[in-house]
Amino acid sequence: MHLLTNSLTYSIDFATMTQKNMETGRCHRIRRGQRLKPEALRSLQEQADFSKKQQLEITNLKKTIRICKIFSKTRKQHTEKRERDAKDQERQLRARVSSAEVEAETRQRQFETQLDACKREAEVKDQKRREQLDTVEQDADAQQRVLRANIDTLQQVAATLTEDLQKATQAESASRLQMTQFLHQGESWRLGKQLEIPHLTPIDCPFLVAIIENMMRTTSHHGPNSRCSPMRQAKVLRVLKVHNVRLGQKYDSRCKQMLQDHADQGVAVGPLTPDVNSFLQSTIKAFDEWMHLEASLHECLLLHGSKRQNISEIVSSGFEERLSRQGGLYGEGIYFAEESCKSFQYCDKDGGENSMILSRVLLGDPHYAKGPLGQMKISPKRDEADATKGRHNSVVANVGTPNGQPPPSVQEHREYVIFDGSQAYPEYVVIFEV
Ligand SMILES: [Zn+2]
Repeated sequence: MHLLTNSLTYSIDFATMTQKNMETGRCHRIRRGQRLKPEALRSLQEQADFSKKQQLEITNLKKTIRICKIFSKTRKQHTEKRERDAKDQERQLRARVSSAEVEAETRQRQFETQLDACKREAEVKDQKRREQLDTVEQDADAQQRVLRANIDTLQQVAATLTEDLQKATQAESASRLQMTQFLHQGESWRLGKQLEIPHLTPIDCPFLVAIIENMMRTTSHHGPNSRCSPMRQAKVLRVLKVHNVRLGQKYDSRCKQMLQDHADQGVAVGPLTPDVNSFLQSTIKAFDEWMHLEASLHECLLLHGSKRQNISEIVSSGFEERLSRQGGLYGEGIYFAEESCKSFQYCDKDGGENSMILSRVLLGDPHYAKGPLGQMKISPKRDEADATKGRHNSVVANVGTPNGQPPPSVQEHREYVIFDGSQAYPEYVVIFEV
């Protein structure tokens, strides 16, 4: 800008000087009335043109100068405006900073106030908590003292109970020992002693005798038949345990043989229909713990009544099918019952002591009688057309079976018949009176 201004000033000075020269005529010393030569005239003309051109340039330069001045003025105004804006912004920022500082200070005061309040509240709560803790500790101490007292009492009670339990256990052991001695005293054939001497051992235990008596009364038929009623008041006088090694071995052998026969013949023994009297089974097994009954052969405990004179022979020689009475409704076999009243029908009726045998019986695969079987001496065939299928092992005559008498007479008691004496073992002889 500065160089531009100097150049413009120099040009303007030069033009101004040339103009003045032309006006004054001092350069060519022109006098009035003097005629000019053509060369001089052209020179003057050229000077005049040059002067006009310079004048035009001067005018243009002046215009440029004005524009530059306007431009400079505008820039100055613009700069001033920016400075003012900057100052305004600075003032606004200062105002904001001041406001923020005030707000921050206010908040700081509020925060401090709240912090103080929180501290005070925490102190109060802490104090309360300490008080509660003290109370809880006092309560816990009191409860602990009570619990200790209770524990002491319970320990004393436990000690007493333990002492009582020991006494009871000792008493039970003594009772069991006594019962075992009663049950197994002289059970020589099972223990391998006195093997060849069949004998009877009285059960000298009132408790067990009472169980047998209850069984005899409970299994008595409760029908209208007057022949049944006496057994409901039966009084058991003695119970004798039978010991007979030979019979036992014979019975075991028959049991194994029957199992083998069933396996060979493919016999699957179904459930007894209806099931045998469970009260009778459970009563005996309750005190004869060693007793095992072979369920797959329907091994049951059943009653057998007979004349007094036959009992000793059964005990010594076992059941003998060849001595069975003739005229039996379901064959000439050995009859058993689960109702004491039915067995009682075969006992003596002279008012004296009577005997009944409680026996193990292997029913095996039974034949269910559909009516009287006449003079049958052996159990029926399983299949009349095929002898290879073998024979049933027993006959069961259920209640309601036609008994050969004119209707409505039917079988009132359930009866079990075997045709092989080795299928039964006499366990107990029950001596009673009615
Ligand atoms: Zn009866």
